[in-house]
Amino acid sequence: MATNRDEQIVQALASQGKIGAAQIAAAQELAERAGKSVVAALVQGGYVTTNEIAEVAESLGEDAEATGEPSSPHEPAAAKGQEGPARAGHRSPRTLRPTKTSLANYRVDPDALREVPKVVAEEHKVLPLTVSDQRLLVAMADKSDVFAVDAVRARTGRRVEAVEVEEAELMAAIDEYYKVQAQSLVSTTATTKDIEGIVRLDAGEDLGIGVDKAIVDMIDEGPVVRIVTSLLREAIRQRASDIHIEPGPEVFKVRYRVDGQLLQQTTLDMDLHPGVVSRIKILAECDISEGRLPQDGRFSTTVDDAVIDLRVSTLPTFWGEKVVLRLLDRSRVLVSLSQLGFSTDTLRDFERLIRMSQGMILVTGPTGSGKSTTLYSALHAINDETRNITTVEDPIEYEVSGINQTQVLPRIDLTFSLALRHILRQDPDVILVGESRDLETAEMAFRASLTGHLVLTTLHTNDAPSAATRLIDIGIAPYIIASSVIGVLAQRLVRRVCPHCRETCTATDMELERLQLTPEQASKIQFHKGRGCSRCRNTGFSGRVAVYELMVMNQELRDSIAAGANSSVLRQIALRTGMKSLRYDGLLKINQGITSASEVIRVSFAGDDF
Ligand SMILES: [Zn+2]
Repeated sequence: MATNRDEQIVQALASQGKIGAAQIAAAQELAERAGKSVVAALVQGGYVTTNEIAEVAESLGEDAEATGEPSSPHEPAAAKGQEGPARAGHRSPRTLRPTKTSLANYRVDPDALREVPKVVAEEHKVLPLTVSDQRLLVAMADKSDVFAVDAVRARTGRRVEAVEVEEAELMAAIDEYYKVQAQSLVSTTATTKDIEGIVRLDAGEDLGIGVDKAIVDMIDEGPVVRIVTSLLREAIRQRASDIHIEPGPEVFKVRYRVDGQLLQQTTLDMDLHPGVVSRIKILAECDISEGRLPQDGRFSTTVDDAVIDLRVSTLPTFWGEKVVLRLLDRSRVLVSLSQLGFSTDTLRDFERLIRMSQGMILVTGPTGSGKSTTLYSALHAINDETRNITTVEDPIEYEVSGINQTQVLPRIDLTFSLALRHILRQDPDVILVGESRDLETAEMAFRASLTGHLVLTTLHTNDAPSAATRLIDIGIAPYIIASSVIGVLAQRLVRRVCPHCRETCTATDMELERLQLTPEQASKIQFHKGRGCSRCRNTGFSGRVAVYELMVMNQELRDSIAAGANSSVLRQIALRTGMKSLRYDGLLKINQGITSASEVIRVSFAGDDF
């Protein structure tokens, strides 16, 4: 019925010369693409106005009445916000054409629009008009639709009163008014400091184009698409490692993890949440119809010539789906070892180790301590025509040309151990094993390191000497560890003091205690902190740098590992034979103004002389 009615309206508009065949065709195409009615598409395409449709619809309604159906008085509401003509209650909707009013007679109050989200409005064919404490006046295509009235009442907690309008006019109006609402929402948030950067970014790098243009563009391309794009671009601009999209009762929060710290970026109306989540799920090839189960996905995007890989994880929460995007910027790999923040001595020792022809090098630290970055930089340093470098990883975090990288795929049983077995038949010189999680993988990696290959891998341990005991726990024989490991690098990431607002300071007694420094020792160290400025968003920090502790194997350590010494004994030997501890490296970086006392304390672990 609605379709016939639509056709009548389209024909009437055409016969009045308001639209031509080309416009109808364009609207039909748009309607099909967007899943809308042709009439709604005509309005959206700007070919006709809602008023014109209302007029035509009204004239069609009159025609219908003129052909024999009982007439009823037309009395369009005159005053703004008043209800339309009340309908007599005894008509049969199938046989009578109800007299409908036109939305042209009503003002649509933005406060009322906010009461009902667009999805609900579309589903139930309801357009909120005005709102008061007790009452919500809505326009409906069929005001006898009690389910729709119930849904709106339940949602708003208000008594719902309805006027009836033509469905085509209503749907076109829902489209139009909610679009305006999204626009005003964006422009409101755009004035807040949080999203300012996003809108400005959209306006172009030179900032020459005004914010208004950006907002208009945002609407033109669909607010949701623009918002998602903006969130990604801004995250990349701020070098965020993760984006969190967290639903709540009214708004959803967007937070970025920058330099290891979560920072709230902006909040957006919950009405936009389903669209934003769906857009991300579509990009990540997740099932958008499934919102009750957690999902994983991934996609790539290019921003300013940098290829960014994103891993997407969704989790149903009380208020809706929470989405976390992890950003992997593969272009960041080409950081040379010398730029990572190694002290001169440590860098010299580490470069010597990675150029050895066989043995095992372990990089240890908690998740997010920058182990992968160090390993990629190491591979990059030795990547030349003379070596066959092969990796097995999960995930491949950077693409490095000249290196053969394999991604494990447990779904098809391509595990670390299976991949590694085949890599060994590929005449490798250097093998990177992303993680030695299980005994089978670790054993194979060790065997490779004893048979003429240089093997690099990671472990989760707090310090370098603990790597040996961890490997024994996994099930590797102590003598194998003793004979194959050539070095263990432990690391942490600390935030860099912002160079634009760095100043010297004194450490507090508490800080000295946590750093295990006597006042006499402390007097030899110059402490620094960032005062906070616009360049560092008042955090006092900008970027991160690693602190390292490199344990180079020697005979005494080998003998002790083979004899099953515990990690504190190994630690004492390592320190006595030249290892510079994480704490030492941290203090060095404090003194150089690279980081602060609080950062070194933050990454230090309790209970020993790190
Ligand atoms: Zn600063």
